[in-house]
Amino acid sequence: MTGQPADRLVLWVHNTLTREKERFTPLDPANVRMYVCGPTVYDFAHIGNARPVVVFDILFRLLRRLYGADHVTYVRNITDIDDKIMDRAKRDGTSISDVTAHFTKAYSQDMGELGALPPSLTPKATDHLPQMIRMVEGLIAKGVAYAADGHVLFHVPAMESYGALSRHGRDELVAGARVEVAPYKRDAADFILWKPSDAGQPGWDSPWGRGRPGWHLECSAMIEEHLGDTIDIHGGGLDLIFPHHENEIAQSECCHGKPFVRTWMHNGYLTVDGEKMSKSLGNFHTVRDLCRQFPGEALRLSLMTAHYRQPIDFSLDHVAEQKRRLDRWYRLTDGVKPSEMVPPAVLQALCDDLNTPKALAAMDALATPDGADDLLAAGRFVGLLLQPATDWFQASSGRGAEGPTGDEIEALIAARKAARDARDYQEADRIRGVLADSNIILEDGPDGTTWRREG
Ligand SMILES: [Zn+2]
Repeated sequence: MTGQPADRLVLWVHNTLTREKERFTPLDPANVRMYVCGPTVYDFAHIGNARPVVVFDILFRLLRRLYGADHVTYVRNITDIDDKIMDRAKRDGTSISDVTAHFTKAYSQDMGELGALPPSLTPKATDHLPQMIRMVEGLIAKGVAYAADGHVLFHVPAMESYGALSRHGRDELVAGARVEVAPYKRDAADFILWKPSDAGQPGWDSPWGRGRPGWHLECSAMIEEHLGDTIDIHGGGLDLIFPHHENEIAQSECCHGKPFVRTWMHNGYLTVDGEKMSKSLGNFHTVRDLCRQFPGEALRLSLMTAHYRQPIDFSLDHVAEQKRRLDRWYRLTDGVKPSEMVPPAVLQALCDDLNTPKALAAMDALATPDGADDLLAAGRFVGLLLQPATDWFQASSGRGAEGPTGDEIEALIAARKAARDARDYQEADRIRGVLADSNIILEDGPDGTTWRREG
């Protein structure tokens, strides 16, 4: 298949730029190009960071299905230059490269636990300094940027259409840029492209002295390098619209004189237990901690229950509920061969601006003995039901606050065997009863005793 949507499915997505749901038509169906802003690698990812990863992973899977797996390029960058990284290295008494290597690896492991496919490319900012410097030079040459006092700034009034994505007025633009009030600014809304580094800070030689890029510039340069001047889809969280994405547009469009992004997609906010997640409120969850309590698929499913543009309220109870939903699906699909086709109702729901709640409802409707093969095909397509049911029930029983862990169950099974070997059947039955009270079902077979968790 080369570049023609399969099954005559039509993808509609909401474009933040026009605030409309639009029929998606890639510039080149043989190479659909998507970019999502990746992590700044100075700490473990939290559950809010995981939301765009899961949302755009589902879109990536859908685009691969529509245009062919070899016809979609998904780039998600690693921001490995940032003041937060310098602070972390100082605090931990380690080097910047150790911090970024450690958290880059942790990020890809954690996102893998959530069933996210690796993007086609994960470029690092530090590998793109020449491209960034070239872009700044180009912006200065075009008269939209200026060097002052070791800094280079983008001059916002030089771009008439600035603010089109966020639809912010002048007051909001100035307020948004307030963090960088400085005497060298020609206009209060101007933003940093390049800033000087002192001896203790990471820096690169440039025509403006030793320094480092601003964050917005990193994405513009990596997109230019790996996807070209105009791309099909740019994604990220709602909080990135302004100033980050607005500034990416300013840099790239002024540099290339072409439209930068055809479709902007933004996922909604995530709260935890009804509040903004924060360490001081005690409702802060890293993906890593959550994966000790729940299988990654339960976390993934929990993030899929809301439409991506809506806010989502995350809670441990909600994940536990989604874990039970998966238990049901796994029991039904145990030993079943998946259908060859993904059920049309699921694909149609996803083609309607990634309507995951509707797709999940279609999957629930398939959760019957007759629909199990379709349910399994749908699950695998959206990154769920990926393991054999026995693995699911054994692995997931080691997590969660309720019931014995996998090790404890194994110890009880060993004790029961010892009792049986000693012909103490009363004790053996007592142990079986203890496990049954925790919904652990034992099955004695020729190769010994296996167990699974019911319910
Ligand atoms: Zn970005």
